Amino acid sequence: MDSSHDEGRRKALRAGVTAAAGLGLALLATRAGAQAPKLDKAAVKYMDASAVEGKECDDCSQFVEGTGGAAGSCRIVAGAISPKGHCIAFSPKPRR
Ligand code: SF4
Repeated sequence: MDSSHDEGRRKALRAGVTAAAGLGLALLATRAGAQAPKLDKAAVKYMDASAVEGKECDDCSQFVEGTGGAAGSCRIVAGAISPKGHCIAFSPKPRR
C-alpha cells in the first residue's frame, strides 16, 4: 500500500472517532436534560454513616454539598444525604 492510501485511512478513522465522541456527548446532554427520577435510598443500600473508609458521600462524584447548614443531596439518590453516608452507587471524585 502507498502512503496516500494510509493517510486516507487515518483521516477516515479520525473522522469516525470524532463522530462517535460527538454522539456520546449528545447522548449525555440528552440524559442530563431529561432529569431521570432519583433512586430510592433502600434500592442503593444507603447508610447515613459509611462503614467503608474513604468511601463517604463527600468523596463521591454524585454528592452535592448543602449550603447554610442544610443537608447535602445526591444527583442520583433521592432525599437528604449525609456527607458521611455511603451507598452501593458510590463513584469516587476524579483526582486532580
Ligand atoms: S451516589 Fe451514593 S455514595 Fe454517592 S453521594 Fe449519592 S448516596 Fe452518596
